[in-house]
Amino acid sequence: MQSSETTVVKKSKGDLAKELGFLAVHLIPLAALFTGATLFDWMVCIFLYVFRMFWITGGYHRYFSHKSYKTSRWFQFVIAFMAQTSAQKGALWWASHHRVHHRHSDQPEDPHSMKLYGFWHSHVGWIVGPDHKETNYKVIADYAKYPELVWLNKHHLVPPVVLALVVMALGGIVNGGSITEMFTTAGFSALFVGFFLSTVVLYHGTFSINSIMHKFGNQRYESGDESRNSLWLALLTLGEGWHNNHHYYEVAARQGFFWWEIDLTYYGLKVLSWLGLIWDLRGVPKHIKYSKNKEHAKQLAKQAKQKELEVEAA
Ligand SMILES: [Zn+2]
Ligand SMILES: [Zn+2]
Repeated sequence: MQSSETTVVKKSKGDLAKELGFLAVHLIPLAALFTGATLFDWMVCIFLYVFRMFWITGGYHRYFSHKSYKTSRWFQFVIAFMAQTSAQKGALWWASHHRVHHRHSDQPEDPHSMKLYGFWHSHVGWIVGPDHKETNYKVIADYAKYPELVWLNKHHLVPPVVLALVVMALGGIVNGGSITEMFTTAGFSALFVGFFLSTVVLYHGTFSINSIMHKFGNQRYESGDESRNSLWLALLTLGEGWHNNHHYYEVAARQGFFWWEIDLTYYGLKVLSWLGLIWDLRGVPKHIKYSKNKEHAKQLAKQAKQKELEVEAA
Protein backbone atom coordinates (compact mmCIF):
# COMPACT_ATOMS: atom_id res chain seq x y z
CA MET A 1 0.00 0.00 0.00
CA GLN A 2 2.71 2.37 1.09
CA SER A 3 4.97 1.54 -1.86
CA SER A 4 2.23 2.12 -4.41
CA GLU A 5 1.51 5.46 -2.76
CA THR A 6 5.18 6.37 -3.04
CA THR A 7 5.18 5.51 -6.74
CA VAL A 8 2.13 7.66 -7.34
CA VAL A 9 3.77 10.62 -5.58
CA LYS A 10 7.03 10.07 -7.49
CA LYS A 11 5.19 9.91 -10.82
CA SER A 12 3.23 13.08 -10.27
CA LYS A 13 6.38 14.92 -9.14
CA GLY A 14 8.12 13.93 -12.38
CA ASP A 15 5.10 15.10 -14.33
CA LEU A 16 5.02 18.48 -12.71
CA ALA A 17 8.71 19.15 -13.31
CA LYS A 18 8.35 18.21 -16.96
CA GLU A 19 5.17 20.20 -17.42
CA LEU A 20 6.78 23.26 -15.85
CA GLY A 21 9.83 22.82 -18.07
CA PHE A 22 7.61 22.60 -21.12
CA LEU A 23 5.67 25.68 -20.02
CA ALA A 24 8.93 27.57 -19.41
CA VAL A 25 10.05 26.94 -23.01
CA HIS A 26 6.78 28.61 -24.09
CA LEU A 27 7.42 31.64 -21.89
CA ILE A 28 11.06 32.25 -22.87
CA PRO A 29 10.19 34.04 -26.19
CA LEU A 30 8.32 36.62 -24.09
CA ALA A 31 11.70 37.78 -22.78
CA ALA A 32 12.00 39.52 -26.17
CA LEU A 33 9.68 42.15 -24.70
CA PHE A 34 12.77 43.32 -22.80
CA THR A 35 15.42 42.83 -25.48
CA GLY A 36 13.35 43.81 -28.51
CA ALA A 37 13.68 41.84 -31.77
CA THR A 38 15.37 42.74 -35.04
CA LEU A 39 14.43 41.81 -38.60
CA PHE A 40 17.32 39.35 -38.50
CA ASP A 41 15.81 37.58 -35.44
CA TRP A 42 12.47 37.16 -37.23
CA MET A 43 14.18 35.85 -40.35
CA VAL A 44 16.07 33.29 -38.27
CA CYS A 45 12.76 32.31 -36.63
CA ILE A 46 11.05 31.60 -39.97
CA PHE A 47 14.12 29.91 -41.43
CA LEU A 48 14.57 27.61 -38.41
CA TYR A 49 10.90 26.63 -38.48
CA VAL A 50 11.06 25.51 -42.12
CA PHE A 51 14.59 24.08 -41.91
CA ARG A 52 13.92 21.99 -38.81
CA MET A 53 10.46 20.87 -39.97
CA PHE A 54 12.20 19.41 -43.01
CA TRP A 55 14.51 17.29 -40.83
CA ILE A 56 11.67 16.24 -38.54
CA THR A 57 9.61 14.92 -41.41
CA GLY A 58 12.45 13.81 -43.71
CA GLY A 59 14.60 12.50 -40.82
CA TYR A 60 12.76 11.43 -37.65
CA HIS A 61 9.75 10.38 -39.66
CA ARG A 62 10.51 9.22 -43.22
CA TYR A 63 14.03 7.91 -42.54
CA PHE A 64 14.23 6.59 -38.96
CA SER A 65 10.60 5.54 -38.48
CA HIS A 66 9.79 4.21 -41.95
CA LYS A 67 13.09 3.63 -43.82
CA SER A 68 11.62 5.19 -46.94
CA TYR A 69 15.10 5.80 -48.46
CA LYS A 70 18.72 4.77 -47.97
CA THR A 71 21.83 6.72 -47.05
CA SER A 72 25.39 6.33 -45.75
CA ARG A 73 26.33 5.85 -42.10
CA TRP A 74 27.85 9.34 -41.77
CA PHE A 75 24.90 11.11 -43.39
CA GLN A 76 22.45 9.15 -41.23
CA PHE A 77 24.20 10.71 -38.20
CA VAL A 78 23.84 14.16 -39.81
CA ILE A 79 20.11 13.49 -40.34
CA ALA A 80 19.65 12.47 -36.68
CA PHE A 81 21.62 15.51 -35.45
CA MET A 82 19.64 17.94 -37.64
CA ALA A 83 16.28 16.43 -36.59
CA GLN A 84 17.28 16.64 -32.92
CA THR A 85 18.03 20.39 -33.18
CA SER A 86 14.21 20.64 -32.92
CA ALA A 87 14.48 19.56 -29.23
CA GLN A 88 11.95 16.77 -29.79
CA LYS A 89 14.17 14.18 -28.06
CA GLY A 90 16.39 11.52 -29.62
CA ALA A 91 15.84 10.17 -33.14
CA LEU A 92 15.60 6.60 -31.80
CA TRP A 93 13.09 7.66 -29.10
CA TRP A 94 10.98 9.55 -31.67
CA ALA A 95 11.02 6.77 -34.27
CA SER A 96 10.38 3.92 -31.79
CA HIS A 97 7.23 5.63 -30.52
CA HIS A 98 6.13 6.44 -34.02
CA ARG A 99 6.45 2.80 -35.10
CA VAL A 100 4.19 1.80 -32.20
CA HIS A 101 1.70 4.47 -33.35
CA HIS A 102 1.48 2.82 -36.79
CA ARG A 103 1.28 -0.71 -35.43
CA HIS A 104 -1.59 0.14 -33.10
CA SER A 105 -3.20 3.21 -34.67
CA ASP A 106 -6.16 4.40 -32.57
CA GLN A 107 -5.96 1.28 -30.40
CA PRO A 108 -5.09 1.33 -26.67
CA GLU A 109 -1.34 0.77 -27.33
CA ASP A 110 -1.18 3.91 -29.54
CA PRO A 111 0.84 6.48 -27.55
CA HIS A 112 -1.17 9.42 -28.95
CA SER A 113 -4.66 8.47 -30.11
CA MET A 114 -6.99 11.48 -29.98
CA LYS A 115 -9.97 9.19 -30.44
CA LEU A 116 -9.11 7.23 -27.28
CA TYR A 117 -7.28 9.73 -25.07
CA GLY A 118 -8.59 13.12 -26.16
CA PHE A 119 -6.98 16.19 -27.71
CA TRP A 120 -4.68 17.29 -24.88
CA HIS A 121 -3.08 13.90 -24.35
CA SER A 122 -2.63 13.22 -28.08
CA HIS A 123 -1.14 16.70 -28.61
CA VAL A 124 1.35 17.13 -25.73
CA GLY A 125 0.26 14.97 -22.77
CA TRP A 126 1.93 11.84 -24.09
CA ILE A 127 5.29 13.64 -24.36
CA VAL A 128 5.35 15.50 -21.05
CA GLY A 129 3.75 12.56 -19.17
CA PRO A 130 5.72 9.72 -17.57
CA ASP A 131 4.48 6.82 -19.74
CA HIS A 132 6.65 7.27 -22.82
CA LYS A 133 9.92 8.49 -21.33
CA GLU A 134 12.11 5.53 -22.26
CA THR A 135 13.29 4.45 -25.69
CA ASN A 136 12.25 0.89 -26.53
CA TYR A 137 15.45 -0.13 -28.33
CA LYS A 138 13.91 -3.43 -29.46
CA VAL A 139 11.41 -1.60 -31.67
CA ILE A 140 14.25 0.36 -33.30
CA ALA A 141 16.94 -2.39 -33.26
CA ASP A 142 17.83 -1.74 -36.93
CA TYR A 143 19.29 1.67 -35.94
CA ALA A 144 20.14 0.96 -32.29
CA LYS A 145 23.06 -1.15 -33.57
CA TYR A 146 24.93 2.10 -34.33
CA PRO A 147 26.63 3.32 -31.11
CA GLU A 148 26.85 6.91 -32.36
CA LEU A 149 23.06 7.05 -32.76
CA VAL A 150 22.49 5.57 -29.29
CA TRP A 151 24.88 8.17 -27.86
CA LEU A 152 23.02 11.00 -29.59
CA ASN A 153 19.70 9.54 -28.45
CA LYS A 154 20.90 9.58 -24.81
CA HIS A 155 22.39 13.07 -25.10
CA HIS A 156 19.45 14.42 -27.04
CA LEU A 157 19.95 18.00 -25.88
CA VAL A 158 23.40 18.38 -27.48
CA PRO A 159 22.08 19.39 -30.95
CA PRO A 160 19.58 22.04 -29.73
CA VAL A 161 22.19 23.56 -27.37
CA VAL A 162 24.75 23.74 -30.20
CA LEU A 163 22.14 25.39 -32.46
CA ALA A 164 21.14 27.87 -29.73
CA LEU A 165 24.80 28.92 -29.32
CA VAL A 166 25.21 29.32 -33.11
CA VAL A 167 22.07 31.51 -33.20
CA MET A 168 23.43 33.66 -30.34
CA ALA A 169 26.79 34.00 -32.10
CA LEU A 170 25.07 35.06 -35.35
CA GLY A 171 22.91 37.48 -33.35
CA GLY A 172 26.09 38.97 -31.86
CA ILE A 173 27.66 39.39 -35.30
CA VAL A 174 24.60 40.67 -37.23
CA ASN A 175 22.76 42.62 -34.51
CA GLY A 176 25.79 43.74 -32.50
CA GLY A 177 28.57 43.90 -35.08
CA SER A 178 30.85 41.37 -33.35
CA ILE A 179 30.76 37.81 -32.03
CA THR A 180 31.83 39.17 -28.63
CA GLU A 181 28.32 40.70 -28.43
CA MET A 182 26.66 37.25 -28.34
CA PHE A 183 26.06 37.42 -24.57
CA THR A 184 24.46 40.89 -24.76
CA THR A 185 20.99 41.93 -25.96
CA ALA A 186 22.19 41.38 -29.56
CA GLY A 187 22.67 37.65 -28.99
CA PHE A 188 19.79 37.17 -26.55
CA SER A 189 17.11 38.67 -28.82
CA ALA A 190 18.23 36.24 -31.55
CA LEU A 191 18.03 33.41 -28.99
CA PHE A 192 14.53 34.32 -27.71
CA VAL A 193 12.88 34.93 -31.10
CA GLY A 194 15.12 33.09 -33.60
CA PHE A 195 15.62 29.93 -31.57
CA PHE A 196 12.97 29.62 -28.83
CA LEU A 197 9.93 31.03 -30.63
CA SER A 198 10.52 28.83 -33.68
CA THR A 199 11.07 25.82 -31.39
CA VAL A 200 7.68 26.36 -29.71
CA VAL A 201 5.83 26.84 -33.01
CA LEU A 202 7.61 23.76 -34.33
CA TYR A 203 6.39 21.72 -31.34
CA HIS A 204 2.78 22.51 -32.11
CA GLY A 205 3.21 22.04 -35.87
CA THR A 206 4.57 18.54 -35.29
CA PHE A 207 2.16 17.60 -32.52
CA SER A 208 -0.83 18.64 -34.62
CA ILE A 209 -0.11 15.65 -36.87
CA ASN A 210 -0.48 13.31 -33.90
CA SER A 211 -3.64 14.95 -32.64
CA ILE A 212 -5.82 16.71 -35.20
CA MET A 213 -4.65 14.74 -38.26
CA HIS A 214 -6.55 11.81 -36.82
CA LYS A 215 -9.70 13.92 -36.64
CA PHE A 216 -10.04 16.68 -39.27
CA GLY A 217 -9.80 16.38 -43.06
CA ASN A 218 -10.74 13.85 -45.72
CA GLN A 219 -10.12 10.14 -45.82
CA ARG A 220 -9.27 8.90 -49.32
CA TYR A 221 -8.23 5.39 -48.31
CA GLU A 222 -9.77 2.92 -45.90
CA SER A 223 -6.69 2.71 -43.71
CA GLY A 224 -8.42 1.06 -40.77
CA ASP A 225 -7.81 4.06 -38.46
CA GLU A 226 -8.89 7.69 -38.09
CA SER A 227 -6.10 9.28 -40.20
CA ARG A 228 -7.04 12.16 -42.55
CA ASN A 229 -5.64 14.31 -45.40
CA SER A 230 -5.55 18.11 -45.18
CA LEU A 231 -3.95 20.58 -47.61
CA TRP A 232 -3.44 23.42 -45.13
CA LEU A 233 -1.77 21.12 -42.60
CA ALA A 234 0.37 19.70 -45.41
CA LEU A 235 1.57 23.24 -46.16
CA LEU A 236 2.31 24.00 -42.49
CA THR A 237 4.15 20.72 -41.93
CA LEU A 238 5.92 20.41 -45.30
CA GLY A 239 3.86 17.45 -46.50
CA GLU A 240 2.86 15.62 -43.33
CA GLY A 241 -0.77 16.68 -43.79
CA TRP A 242 -1.29 13.84 -46.29
CA HIS A 243 -1.61 11.64 -43.25
CA ASN A 244 -4.30 9.27 -44.54
CA ASN A 245 -2.12 8.53 -47.61
CA HIS A 246 0.75 7.91 -45.22
CA HIS A 247 -1.17 5.54 -42.96
CA TYR A 248 -2.37 3.61 -45.99
CA TYR A 249 1.13 3.15 -47.44
CA GLU A 250 3.67 4.18 -44.84
CA VAL A 251 6.96 3.16 -46.51
CA ALA A 252 6.79 5.71 -49.36
CA ALA A 253 9.22 8.63 -49.30
CA ARG A 254 6.41 10.87 -50.58
CA GLN A 255 3.20 11.50 -48.68
CA GLY A 256 1.51 13.56 -51.37
CA PHE A 257 0.62 10.73 -53.75
CA PHE A 258 -0.65 12.95 -56.60
CA TRP A 259 1.19 15.85 -58.23
CA TRP A 260 -1.22 18.41 -56.77
CA GLU A 261 -0.65 17.15 -53.22
CA ILE A 262 2.12 19.55 -52.24
CA ASP A 263 4.82 17.74 -50.26
CA LEU A 264 7.81 20.05 -49.71
CA THR A 265 9.75 17.44 -47.73
CA TYR A 266 9.64 15.10 -50.69
CA TYR A 267 10.98 17.80 -53.01
CA GLY A 268 13.82 18.40 -50.52
CA LEU A 269 14.59 14.68 -50.38
CA LYS A 270 14.68 14.62 -54.19
CA VAL A 271 17.33 17.37 -54.12
CA LEU A 272 19.40 15.40 -51.57
CA SER A 273 19.16 12.36 -53.86
CA TRP A 274 20.39 14.38 -56.87
CA LEU A 275 23.36 15.42 -54.71
CA GLY A 276 24.05 11.73 -54.06
CA LEU A 277 23.57 12.04 -50.29
CA ILE A 278 20.54 9.71 -50.17
CA TRP A 279 19.20 7.11 -52.62
CA ASP A 280 16.57 4.43 -53.29
CA LEU A 281 13.60 6.67 -52.43
CA ARG A 282 10.58 4.40 -52.24
CA GLY A 283 7.67 5.36 -54.48
CA VAL A 284 3.96 4.55 -54.46
CA PRO A 285 2.94 1.58 -56.66
CA LYS A 286 0.04 2.29 -59.03
CA HIS A 287 -2.23 -0.39 -57.55
CA ILE A 288 -1.87 1.31 -54.13
CA LYS A 289 -2.33 4.84 -55.45
CA TYR A 290 -5.59 4.15 -57.30
CA SER A 291 -7.19 1.74 -54.82
CA LYS A 292 -9.76 2.31 -52.07
CA ASN A 293 -8.55 -0.34 -49.65
CA LYS A 294 -6.07 -3.22 -49.47
CA GLU A 295 -8.51 -5.71 -51.03
CA HIS A 296 -9.10 -3.37 -53.98
CA ALA A 297 -5.33 -2.84 -54.30
CA LYS A 298 -4.84 -6.61 -54.66
CA GLN A 299 -7.45 -6.70 -57.44
CA LEU A 300 -5.79 -3.81 -59.28
CA ALA A 301 -2.39 -5.49 -59.02
CA LYS A 302 -3.88 -8.70 -60.44
CA GLN A 303 -5.55 -6.86 -63.33
CA ALA A 304 -2.31 -5.04 -64.17
CA LYS A 305 -0.39 -8.34 -64.27
CA GLN A 306 -3.03 -9.91 -66.52
CA LYS A 307 -2.79 -6.99 -68.95
CA GLU A 308 0.97 -7.36 -69.02
CA LEU A 309 0.65 -11.06 -69.89
CA GLU A 310 -1.86 -10.25 -72.63
CA VAL A 311 0.51 -7.70 -74.15
CA GLU A 312 3.36 -10.21 -74.03
CA ALA A 313 1.18 -12.89 -75.69
CA ALA A 314 0.04 -10.59 -78.49
ZN1 LIG B 1 4.47 7.57 -39.93
ZN1 LIG C 1 -0.89 8.92 -37.47
